[in-house]
Amino acid sequence: MKARYSVIVPMFNEEEVIKHTYDRLKKVMDQSDDSYELVFVNDGSRDHTAEIMREISSRDENVKLIDFSRNFGHQVAITAGMDYAEGDAVVVIDADLQDPPEVILQMIEKWKEGYEVVYGKRLKRQGETIFKKVTAKIFYRLLSSMTSVDIPTDTGDFRLIDRKVCDVLRGLKEKNRYVRGLVSWVGFRQTMVEYDREERFAGETKYPLKKMIRFALDGITSFSHKPLKIASYIGFFLSFSSFLYLFFVLFQRVFTSWTVPGWASIVGVNLLFNGIVLMLLGVIGEYIGRIYDESKDRPLYIVRETKGYLDVEQEHSHIRKGNDYVR
Ligand code: UDP
Ligand code: MG
Repeated sequence: MKARYSVIVPMFNEEEVIKHTYDRLKKVMDQSDDSYELVFVNDGSRDHTAEIMREISSRDENVKLIDFSRNFGHQVAITAGMDYAEGDAVVVIDADLQDPPEVILQMIEKWKEGYEVVYGKRLKRQGETIFKKVTAKIFYRLLSSMTSVDIPTDTGDFRLIDRKVCDVLRGLKEKNRYVRGLVSWVGFRQTMVEYDREERFAGETKYPLKKMIRFALDGITSFSHKPLKIASYIGFFLSFSSFLYLFFVLFQRVFTSWTVPGWASIVGVNLLFNGIVLMLLGVIGEYIGRIYDESKDRPLYIVRETKGYLDVEQEHSHIRKGNDYVR
C-alpha cells in the first residue's frame, strides 16, 4: 500500500531561503515512491514569503499554503500544519535548512520499521552563536531536571510523527504550546535519528532573546510545577529563619543593654526579603497568566487564506477552536 507523507514547514520572514527549501524538499521527497504534500505555514511574515509560496503552490499541486492573519509564533504554526496535514506520517522541519531534508528519508525508514515518533537529535550545531548554544544546553538540562516527562535533550521540532500521534496532539487544547514536550508526553513507540545541525542557509534567526525566554518559560511551566514548589520551599525557609531571628532580637532587647544602631540591618533585611517576595510573586504570576490564557478560550490561530486545497469549502478562512473549525 502506498503511504502518504505531509511535511510541515513553519515560516516567518524566510524570503531568502524558502525557494531553496522548497527545491531541496521536493528533491528529497521525489526520491520516495510514496505520495507527499508540503504544507507551508506562513506565520505572518512581513516580507515576500507568502507571495513566493503562493506562486509555487499554483505550479506544484503537492504544495499547500496556510497563511495566518498575523504572527502567532513558531509552535502555533506547527500546530496549524498538523491540523491541515493529511498524510499517514507527518514531518515537521524548519524553513531555514538547518535541519537537512535528507534526514527525512532516514526517519521514514524508521517509521516503516514500526516507530510512531522519530525525532532528530542534534549532534553538532553549526553556525550558531556560543550564547545560543550555551543557553540551549542549559535550558534542555534544566527542563529535564524539572519535569517527570522524559523530554529528550538537544532535539528540536524536527521529527516525524505517525497519523495516530498527530490526531492525539490535535486533541490537546492547551494554548501555551510546547510541541516537542507534548510529543514526548503522548508516549507511543519513539526512536531517534542523529544529525548535524547545519548553518542557516540565509537570513537570520527568528528567535531573538525575548522569544527564546518566552519559549523556555512555556516549556518549563507546561511540564513542571517545580518553580511553584521552589517558591514555597524558599518561603518556608525564610519564615523559619526570621522566626529564629525574632528570638534573637527579643533576647537582645530584654537581657542586654547594647545600643543597636540597626538601620543597616533593617534596610538590608527589608531589601532582601522584598526582593525574594517579589520574585516568588512573579513565579506565581507566570502560572496564573497561563491559566488566564487557557480560560479565555480564544482560537489558537486565525487563517487568512489557504492555497492548494481542492475542496472549495476549505479555501475560506479557518479558525481553530479545539478540533472544530469555525468559519
Ligand atoms: N518561525 C515561525 N514563527 C516565529 C519564529 C520562527 O514560524 O515567530 C519559524 C522560522 O521561520 C523557522 C523556524 O520557526 O522555520 C525556526 O526558527 P529559527 O530558524 O529562526 O530559529 P533557530 O534555528 O535560530 O532557533
Ligand atoms: Mg534556524
